[in-house]
Amino acid sequence: MPTPTPAYDPNNVFAKILRGEIPAERVCDSKHSFAFYDISPLAPIHVLVIPRGAYTDLHDFLSRASDEEILDFWKLVDKISAEQSLIPSGFRLVSNLGPDGGQEVPHFHVHLLGGRPLGPVLPSNR
Ligand code: 5GP
Repeated sequence: MPTPTPAYDPNNVFAKILRGEIPAERVCDSKHSFAFYDISPLAPIHVLVIPRGAYTDLHDFLSRASDEEILDFWKLVDKISAEQSLIPSGFRLVSNLGPDGGQEVPHFHVHLLGGRPLGPVLPSNR
């Protein structure tokens, strides 16, 4: 039984990007997913990958999306990591969820970060 997540806000910035209402620098896309560069990159490569469907966060996506959408999404993440030459040097995937996770845009996304050694996941000040 999925735990309720906040209602999807169709006016969030990634929904507007998907509708073509605001521009984004496309990286690549697939039937159910879209990838574009973050407007404020935190690493030499900082790509955002999103599903085309209206899902608020990772939990919402994995609870309600079809297996086809879920597979399509992770296959696109893998394709980007190869196309951006991030294998075998490596990269980091981050998905912020909710207030404690620091999620700012309420449309499920992963950050794909790489292009330099990224150091610890978080500062060690707990
Ligand atoms: P979150 O904190 O929700 O995980 O991350 C949201 C990300 O979206 C941030 O890294 C932010 O820089 C990025 N972002 C916010 N608005 C825009 C935009 O209009 N275009 C693009 N390309 N990225 C955006």
